[in-house]
Amino acid sequence: MSGRFYDVIIVGAGPAGSHAAYVLASSGYSVAVFEEKSAPGLNVCCTGIISTECFHALGLDADVIVGQARSAKFFSPSGRCLRLEAAGVQAYIVDRLLLDKAIASKAQSQGAQYFFCSPVTDIIPGRDTIQAETGFSETRQVFNARAVVLANGFRPKLPRKLGLGRIKNFLVGAQTEIGVKHIDETEIYFGQEIAPGSFAWLVPTSASRAYVGLLAISQAKLHLQKFLNTLFCQGRSTSQEVEIRQKVVPLGTLTRSYGDRILVVGDAAGQVKPTSGGGIYFGHLGAQIAAEVLAEALHSDNLTANHLSSYQKQWRAKMGQELSRGYWLRWACAKLSDHQIERVFDVFDSNGTAEALLNSDNFSFDWHSGLILTGLRHNSAYPLLKIKHLFSREVSS
Ligand SMILES: Cc1cc2nc3c(=O)[nH]c(=O)nc-3n(C[C@H](O)[C@H](O)[C@H](O)COP(=O)(O)OP(=O)(O)OC[C@H]3O[C@@H](n4cnc5c(N)ncnc54)[C@H](O)[C@@H]3O)c2cc1C
Repeated sequence: MSGRFYDVIIVGAGPAGSHAAYVLASSGYSVAVFEEKSAPGLNVCCTGIISTECFHALGLDADVIVGQARSAKFFSPSGRCLRLEAAGVQAYIVDRLLLDKAIASKAQSQGAQYFFCSPVTDIIPGRDTIQAETGFSETRQVFNARAVVLANGFRPKLPRKLGLGRIKNFLVGAQTEIGVKHIDETEIYFGQEIAPGSFAWLVPTSASRAYVGLLAISQAKLHLQKFLNTLFCQGRSTSQEVEIRQKVVPLGTLTRSYGDRILVVGDAAGQVKPTSGGGIYFGHLGAQIAAEVLAEALHSDNLTANHLSSYQKQWRAKMGQELSRGYWLRWACAKLSDHQIERVFDVFDSNGTAEALLNSDNFSFDWHSGLILTGLRHNSAYPLLKIKHLFSREVSS
């Protein structure tokens, strides 16, 4: 069975896909969004921490916000605590269900048509149009469009099939929400036992509940279960039976985020901060650039890969350096032993180093590379010396 013809088909109603839908529909193009779930934002595995800069860029009402953060406690592997507090609010904790719904509603209000329970199973580029197949066997339908935006999160199948490459490196994030005693600010935990190669977190969603989660190179669910048991034994957690969700976080970008009549945005393209795994803002920026490039390409009726390649040039100019420095720092930090992490805490805890960085002009919740360079430039203590040496080789190459 064949459906109708659109200017643009968008695969995935996450924040990146719905933002692209909003911009394109606002520019007067007919847009169809296909989402495999029955509604936006269902069963999402995400903490929903976004910078104030990101919140304002999203242009949403404050009712998606469940909390705000201006301070955080950082725990070393031995349990030592370093608390940092900024002068103003740095980030908001948003409800992902409400966020995804709100962005989708904005797109719908501009005329974008949403199809739920509609998994896109194949994309077939043609000379004059591009086809999207949705559903399976009897429910299978074919839709045609002038262009497709892939915004389907970290799902390698479609980009690989379309010859756009594959993101090879990733972390696995696992998270649940628990009842918790005494929590008033975000807590971040480091250590190879707790979250190998990464970190764990407790983020308050109310006075008595918090997201608890972690990113790990592998076995994230198992490590989170262990962390939950520890919190329960310590009397911090009041929940015992919880449902853990997990999701892959890309660490790397697609070789090509464009093709004939195709653009790829958000997690699908690898637009994720490697330092924190946060992808809402960079995905939003990628979706904005993609929609602007596509609107112009639709207008000039030039949808060749060559013409659409300006999307990749623009988004790499905006965030490419952030991503490459972030990958490098993550790679170097993942190699630190617990002993070395303790020494990093020594450095940041001494002579007001952490406060100085927090209050420096380079501090930004989203843009980390300036801060990384400042932090390394002004410290020669072991093990930062080794990181600094490797890092300066990387950034000068
Ligand atoms: C544990 C954890 C915590 C996180 N916390 C944060 C955080 O605090 N802040 C932050 O900024 N980021 C965070 N992230 C990352 C963030 O969740 C993602 O970067 C963000 O959701 C990416 O948005 P997206 O629109 O690109 O993709 P997604 O949000 O993954 O949306 C993709 C959509 O496409 C749909 N889809 C997939 N395949 C198909 C198909 N074939 N057909 C139709 N629909 C399809 C999916 O159902 C989904 O709705 C976290 C990630 C994890 C794992």
